[in-house]
Amino acid sequence: MERIYLDHNATTALDPEVLEAMLPFLRSGFGNASSAHADGRQARAAVDEARSQVAELIGAQPREIVFTSGGTEADNHALRGVLELARVPEGGTPHLIVSAVEHPAVLAVAQHLEKQGVRVTYVAVDPQARVDPDAVRAALTDETVLVSVMLANNEVGTIQPVQEIAAIARARGILVHTDAVQAAGRLPVDVQELGVDLLSISGHKIYGPKGIGALYIRRGTRIAPLLHGGHQERRRRGGTENVPGIVGMGVACRLARERLATIPDRERELRDRLEAGIRQQVPHVRFNGHPTERLPNTLNLGFNFVEGEALLMNLDFEGIAISTGSACSSGDLEPSHVLMAMQIPVEEAHGSLRFSLGKETTSEQIDRTIAAVVRVVERVRALSPMYADFKRQQAAQETQAHAR
Ligand code: PLP
Repeated sequence: MERIYLDHNATTALDPEVLEAMLPFLRSGFGNASSAHADGRQARAAVDEARSQVAELIGAQPREIVFTSGGTEADNHALRGVLELARVPEGGTPHLIVSAVEHPAVLAVAQHLEKQGVRVTYVAVDPQARVDPDAVRAALTDETVLVSVMLANNEVGTIQPVQEIAAIARARGILVHTDAVQAAGRLPVDVQELGVDLLSISGHKIYGPKGIGALYIRRGTRIAPLLHGGHQERRRRGGTENVPGIVGMGVACRLARERLATIPDRERELRDRLEAGIRQQVPHVRFNGHPTERLPNTLNLGFNFVEGEALLMNLDFEGIAISTGSACSSGDLEPSHVLMAMQIPVEEAHGSLRFSLGKETTSEQIDRTIAAVVRVVERVRALSPMYADFKRQQAAQETQAHAR
């Protein structure tokens, strides 16, 4: 049976057009983009074109794009690079603000910086995972160097009011970074409109290759390199360029921009059909996230009385790939930090599943998924002592009500 892949927030398949564009640079076009000869110049021209394509997706200038090894490196570079050059009033402690629902690529860096003496504020979110811009305003001090709030959350899809947050921070001369790894290609993203100084994106979330990403650095931003080495990337990232990866990332960005007018709407329609189908047929389901300010492809649902891992394994057995929490945390059974920050009770967080649709998802796949979820939840709940208890209590209450 054809497998159904609904885990596009974890990663996406390489687009055939991206692969075609990369192949020549994996075969004969192996030149080093820093070499002066024709082979090198060919590689340099390809890197330059890709840089323009990436810049165009986010409304930046090509010179403001630094290629990285992915979203994680872009986030590390933004936070560590800015904090390294932080200037704070005499005797002060540099201060960083991040949201509590950031990806570990930001959160773990913040924790690392904390150990190095940086003061970090983790701004709380509301039950729909939104950051309140006023909470960021209240956290700003004269020592605040950087605010980093993601554009869209990878687990529940909630879109953050980054534009408002950036306006508040920049009015005080404070730099703003946003992790747009999940947002790029799914929402219009424009660095001018957002008013951010730094923005991270990743190739493999937008049908590009893995191991490539980019950091937008607004012209004039004070930031140290993360990787010291050669002169590459205007000395902002040493190391011979990953030319095939960069070429793939460029084409993926061009395709993402071309598809922005059609694919997200299609995904939203199918996603809503999936949500409606499940909620109509499965009782005791909780919706996690923001009803409207949300990525068009993402649906996070909590199934009471069961473990998400058990649902995941059963759905996988039925040929359907979904995720519990974020891909990066699957394997550890801690409840998702995002759901915890949304104040979802631990038992309910444990029963949460993320469905993330892609450009190839069909309505037939959605209908098959709904049917499978109905079947699997029923089967797993039938084995759940918690559900048995609930049913007994429910039956007892009904008997009492009849007796009255
Ligand atoms: N930021 C967010 C929001 C993500 O979802 C991810 C990947 O899951 C990353 C950063 C890390 O990106 P990469 O896998 O390219 O290192």
